[in-house]
Amino acid sequence: MSEEKVYPVPAAIAAKAHINAEQYAAMYQRSIDDPAGFWAEQAEQFVTWSRKWDSVMDYSYQADDLHINWFQGGKLNVSYNCLDRHLATRGDQVAIIWEGDDPNVDRKITYRELHEEVCRLANVLKSRGVQKGDRVCIYLPMIPEAAVAMLACTRIGAVHSIVFGGFSPDSLRDRVLDSECKLVITSDESVRGGRHVPLKKNADIAMRECPNVDTVLVVRRTGGNVDWVEGRDVWYHEAVAAAATECAPEEMDAEDPLFILYTSGSTGKPKGALHTTGGYLVYAAMTHKYTFDYQDGEIYWCTADVGWVTGHTYIVYGPLANGATSVMFEGIPNYPDMSRFWDVVDKHNVSIFYTAPTAIRSLMRAGEEPVKKTSRQSLRILGSVGEPINPEAWEWYHNVVGDGRCPIVDTWWQTETGGHLITPLPGATALKPGSATRPFFGVVPALVDPSTGVRIEGAAEGALVICQPWPGQMRTVYGDHQRYVDTYFKQYPGYYFTGDGARRDADGYYWITGRIDDVLNVSGHRLGTAEIESALVLHPHVAEAAVVGYPHDLKGQGIYAYVTPMAGVEPTDELKKELVSLVRGEIGPIAIVDIIQWAPGLPKTRSGKIMRRILRKIAANEIDSLGDTSTLADPTVVEDLIENRAVK
Ligand code: ATP
Ligand code: MG
Repeated sequence: MSEEKVYPVPAAIAAKAHINAEQYAAMYQRSIDDPAGFWAEQAEQFVTWSRKWDSVMDYSYQADDLHINWFQGGKLNVSYNCLDRHLATRGDQVAIIWEGDDPNVDRKITYRELHEEVCRLANVLKSRGVQKGDRVCIYLPMIPEAAVAMLACTRIGAVHSIVFGGFSPDSLRDRVLDSECKLVITSDESVRGGRHVPLKKNADIAMRECPNVDTVLVVRRTGGNVDWVEGRDVWYHEAVAAAATECAPEEMDAEDPLFILYTSGSTGKPKGALHTTGGYLVYAAMTHKYTFDYQDGEIYWCTADVGWVTGHTYIVYGPLANGATSVMFEGIPNYPDMSRFWDVVDKHNVSIFYTAPTAIRSLMRAGEEPVKKTSRQSLRILGSVGEPINPEAWEWYHNVVGDGRCPIVDTWWQTETGGHLITPLPGATALKPGSATRPFFGVVPALVDPSTGVRIEGAAEGALVICQPWPGQMRTVYGDHQRYVDTYFKQYPGYYFTGDGARRDADGYYWITGRIDDVLNVSGHRLGTAEIESALVLHPHVAEAAVVGYPHDLKGQGIYAYVTPMAGVEPTDELKKELVSLVRGEIGPIAIVDIIQWAPGLPKTRSGKIMRRILRKIAANEIDSLGDTSTLADPTVVEDLIENRAVK
């Protein structure tokens, strides 16, 4: 790529940050040299335990003896840590600022109010027969009741499984059945961008094939019409109003299950990632504080949905464990107009803003004006998660949104990892646009040769693996431990395999090149999708691009690019030529884009990630075997791409 830019830590940030560069270096070293000592201290600092653990860590990454245990023998309750222990000092502080889809609707909930509501719902769950260890499915929009439901489960030791409110009845059914839930919490409807979606109706369809669900709790969000199944369906507001306001927290073992969450499905059949209690909470709280340099009293906003792991760890558990004020947003970035994010930032004085590259690229497409007409003076730290952020989008985020003032934390992590693994720390890490930079405390990443599995040192590119566990690591695939072993620990023995590829530069910075399955092999050269896509979006007329390999007689694989032009740009053959030479110039003569297909939209998961698996099939003209498309956000996008594919 072209010359790397480096952004040093701004002096104003370094001056008051929790962690500066020297502290990062020393703490990181200690976390590696003495993990047990290090994590014992962190567990004491971030979590209140009702009984201390007997052993800090005990693990084996060997496939035939795989086990991962943290803080065994320790006892705690997550809702106690997120609520009760704050009441004496910050009971009247706002815990959640809820910003509705309609810009005129919002709600502030204090820690004391949240505590009461969680206790009430916990009592309702108990009265419906939910016991410690039982699974509860949460199928809700982004309303405060979603956070209340999560915390109420943890209060009584039930295991929640959140299914994103945008998923279909079939997706909901599959997940409810897989995790054997007995109770489902939903709402009459959800509201996004002014449109109502019939959640209860979806749930009713799913429940026809879920015989073990005996209760459906229904939150009244819009008052829209719903069908009612007597005996099974219960209005949430009626049940909580009748419930007691106190509910003693259940004492949980550190390794008791906390939640199941199905991964988003960019690569195939969703897996139920199981996270446990103690290690996850320690890791959620610690990463939230240090990655975002969260300072007491700041307003923090993560735009993710609670249906994704980002919403779990960085809207609810991390922030609330730290006594933060967390914004929860029901709407979408372009409703009522393209300024919405920044209007909300100004309205609530948001200091820390965390979103996804897909949102940044779509806002970038609309130009600077909707951003520039807002103040954004409250912003201090920006964050990115979900996909590699193209340097072009990074620069825009930094210069236009952050006025060049706010560090961007590009956080690389996964549903499986529970929290950030590779990320800058605002006060400690000089930034390079497009790089997730350096490992978090206790995380030992490595690169291995994808074909031989041999570890490679120094500046290199390879498959990204992690050498030893961290407390937030998932413990199993629910109901299918063998799949856990096979997916993550078989291919490269002794390591946790992330499925991603990465490059490490001479400064030890990591650059995620994309999923290893997406890597192209052009005439024997391995090319990451992220690099080629980033070159394409450098062109001012390109909004977004997705690159895949396709069978090529001479090169083995050729480069097939799906390109979305900027709003109002006419796609021409001239532009195609410019793009081909742009990529060649940026990456080198091996990177000749063979085919460019104009794409009005790209197939994305519901969380906004490009599904290259499907694009590969279209490029190869294998349209009969697209695979599981149930997690696609907009299936019509695929029809257009098939219709206009280059090879038929
Ligand atoms: P599935 O595993 O079901 O295919 P998924 O991998 O998209 O779905 P997540 O766990 O939500 O589900 O996403 C984790 C993946 O997202 C990472 O493995 C990586 O490919 C990508 N990712 C997340 N954050 C970043 C980042 N900051 N930079 C680059 N890639 C990222
Ligand atoms: Mg994944």
